[in-house]
Amino acid sequence: MTIVHGLDRVPTRTTVAIAGGGPSGTYLALRLAAAGIDSVVLEPRVEIDRLRPRAKTTNARTMSLLAGIGLAERVRETAALPVSYSQDVIFCTSLRGHELRRFHQAFQLIDGDYDLSPECGQQIPQPQVEQVLREAAARSDHITYITGVRASGANPSAMTPSTATLSVAPADDADNGTVELEAKWIIGADGGTSRVRKSLGIAFQGTSAPRPNFNVVFTSARLRDHVSIDPAVQWWIINESTSGMIGELDRDGTWWAILQGCEPIDDPAEVAATIRTMAGVGPDVDIEVLATDSWTARMLLADSYGGRESNGRVFLVGDAAHLNPPWGGHGFNTCISDAENLAWKLIAVHDGWAEEGLLDSYEEERRPVAARMIADAAANGKALAYDFVDPMLDEVGAEGDEVRTRVREALAVKASEFHSEGLVLGYEYAGTSRVAPGPVPFVDAVEYRPQALPGCLLPHFRLSSGTSVYPDARGFTVFVTDDASTYLATEALERTAREHSIPLRVIRLSGTDAEAAREHWGAELVLVRPDLHIAATASAAAESYDVAADGAGTDDASPDAVLAAALLTAVGAAPAGDRSSERSDDSAPRDANHQREAT
Ligand SMILES: Cc1cc2nc3c(=O)[nH]c(=O)nc-3n(C[C@H](O)[C@H](O)[C@H](O)COP(=O)(O)OP(=O)(O)OC[C@H]3O[C@@H](n4cnc5c(N)ncnc54)[C@H](O)[C@@H]3O)c2cc1C
Repeated sequence: MTIVHGLDRVPTRTTVAIAGGGPSGTYLALRLAAAGIDSVVLEPRVEIDRLRPRAKTTNARTMSLLAGIGLAERVRETAALPVSYSQDVIFCTSLRGHELRRFHQAFQLIDGDYDLSPECGQQIPQPQVEQVLREAAARSDHITYITGVRASGANPSAMTPSTATLSVAPADDADNGTVELEAKWIIGADGGTSRVRKSLGIAFQGTSAPRPNFNVVFTSARLRDHVSIDPAVQWWIINESTSGMIGELDRDGTWWAILQGCEPIDDPAEVAATIRTMAGVGPDVDIEVLATDSWTARMLLADSYGGRESNGRVFLVGDAAHLNPPWGGHGFNTCISDAENLAWKLIAVHDGWAEEGLLDSYEEERRPVAARMIADAAANGKALAYDFVDPMLDEVGAEGDEVRTRVREALAVKASEFHSEGLVLGYEYAGTSRVAPGPVPFVDAVEYRPQALPGCLLPHFRLSSGTSVYPDARGFTVFVTDDASTYLATEALERTAREHSIPLRVIRLSGTDAEAAREHWGAELVLVRPDLHIAATASAAAESYDVAADGAGTDDASPDAVLAAALLTAVGAAPAGDRSSERSDDSAPRDANHQREAT
């Protein structure tokens, strides 16, 4: 399937109708396609606008998720600035002035081995990531990606217990009517002004920042030669006349800048002059303004993610459900994690191995994460470059040194913006309905403490072969860490998975890999969901458990039985033999993908 255009290409029916072909919608379509589920993506934009770079941070978690659909390498190849270009964010008085503070290994940019996740972060403008996603969608037989159309809204009166209807119109509002697209599910991935959200009567709650910001994309052949500060993925400039951020978009003279707290400037010559002042260069440095964009940071969260208003037929994903200020680079990345969370649940329900009710846990798990991301980004937005201005900052001599030392210390507050592993890898779903009960995890925006607790992301490590312990998961995975004297049974768990057609992969780790697993996880059995969050753990130390190779000892308190029960909780599966009536024709159960592996 290639990308098609126009209202007449909209079919009458599909499995999942996705309004919005931005990062959230396209990633979701690709995740569904990998499981063989058809979707139609409806997108107004024919071309992706490269002059509105928006997100530049693809964090370590998103890169790992992109690796899961085979696109991480393509994203890195496409990025003009490899990780080796710079791993720093540098605060300075101008591009030729004093360096004030440096945040090394910002945004999980690690030039070398990264142990906390299979992939480290990558700086790449959002349009290029979108292009990679779009091209992958165009190659998929399961995705119909239609440009030049927009969703007018979901039609609540046309919803049935198993279908929903989306009204679709031409993107340019040309007067050739609307068509109705029926689907098993509708996804509102149509951004901050989401028509799908509005059609369900769901409001955003929150606030806006008091001051606007002004984005500029420009070219300059000579600016690079004038930079005396070290390379950085973001130079934050603290300057009395204009403060903000500057960075290179490529190594060919294309640049971006965000003038913080700046009202829109209409005259390109004035924009160029402002950039020169900020950079600390004279009129001999060429600046050609390509695009400008005024925006105000918004901290908005939808009252609902759609399931309740639509009887489980419509869900909001990404900016349609929440708007984060960009400080910390969590917006786009949170959208991809939303899509990941919803994708495996849609697959599970579609393929018949989970109850429809599993979809309720999407909002239950993801809305608090969005609230946390918004709160943290809002806090970052309270300490922007202009908040650190001091007229003595560029002064030569002891007085200037004293001011710079003071500002350097004050800038410590920005750590959570650039070193936010606690948010990126530490978001968790502990205490929610689909994960086993367990201790409350340690949470912090900056410090990521890998914890093998229910709801947390599986702590990562590399196997003795050098590859990531993360499985190429399409279903659940149970890791079993045997040692020479122990054989841990998983019969009950495997039987439960079989009875409920739940794809389950059993990975037995032995030798040094088992030792490493026990060290990182502190549990011998770890049951992991398709999104690599832990559903439950169990320990062989349970006293009632009589370890035996023949499966003896699988009583109710055995680790095996504990995980079997947790598996059913995780998917909300009804008892075996009582589930055929839940499936419609196009959701027949697939063969459970039971695999046993040992490393
Ligand atoms: C200046 C700026 C800098 C940012 N920097 C970062 C950063 O460093 N890191 C980060 O993680 N995030 C950042 N973000 C946030 C990031 O850009 C968004 O969070 C992200 O684009 C949201 O993805 P999405 O797919 O949910 O929505 P969008 O990207 O808004 O995509 C929605 C899609 O829906 C389409 N659409 C609109 N209306 C309709 C309709 N009626 N029917 C169908 N389709 C429709 C749109 O054309 C669009 O393609 C930044 C944002 C801004 C503004």
